[in-house]
Amino acid sequence: MVGEGILKGLAETARNFFGSYVSKERLTTVQYPEQRLPRIEAARSFPFLVYDGSDWQQGMRCVGCQICEKECPPKCILIEKSKDKKPDAVGKQQFYPAVFDIDISVCMSCQICVEVCPFDAIKMDVDVDLPTDNRFAGLLLDKQQLAKSNEYYHGIHPTEAAAVDAALAAERAKAQAKKPAAATPPAAPPSAAPVPEAQPVGGESK
Ligand code: SF4
Ligand code: SF4
Repeated sequence: MVGEGILKGLAETARNFFGSYVSKERLTTVQYPEQRLPRIEAARSFPFLVYDGSDWQQGMRCVGCQICEKECPPKCILIEKSKDKKPDAVGKQQFYPAVFDIDISVCMSCQICVEVCPFDAIKMDVDVDLPTDNRFAGLLLDKQQLAKSNEYYHGIHPTEAAAVDAALAAERAKAQAKKPAAATPPAAPPSAAPVPEAQPVGGESK
């Protein structure tokens, strides 16, 4: 019949429209902020900086390489690299950001900074409760405001955070395995005492 498809489409639209008033699973809005929809793991709002352990300054994964700053399309990241170094997430001495600001009034949540970061140091938050009456300074977040723990990351993106932890653990194990090799003295003569069995090298996972 001519127009059957259109009628079917209209019927489906009407079913969804009226159903959204009576059927709980079809409700598309809630009384925010008293009510909230459950968080979706793939949701994203603005970036944050991940830190390991309990000290946000010591544990911050960012090494201030500035790749994200260069790649950010609207240029809303400002980084100043430190003069000194501290151990990074896998134990290497690295620079860190002396200044790391993001202007979230400009950020377009594209996630490019996350994609280009070689250190899994910046991830997308899901928090959208960021009201402020200060249009400028209130939306310019510094590194302390951006710093969030790895536990927080696991809470909002558990699958992704577990994969990152596994990759970092593998990198740490590799780095650990290299250390004794570099420090190993020349091989002992064949008559020397039996060599103790090698201990498995395990990366610490968070
Ligand atoms: S999400 Fe996009 S716009 Fe926002 S800071 Fe990252 S790269 Fe820049
Ligand atoms: S967040 Fe990542 S890409 Fe950006 S400066 Fe830090 S380590 Fe480099």
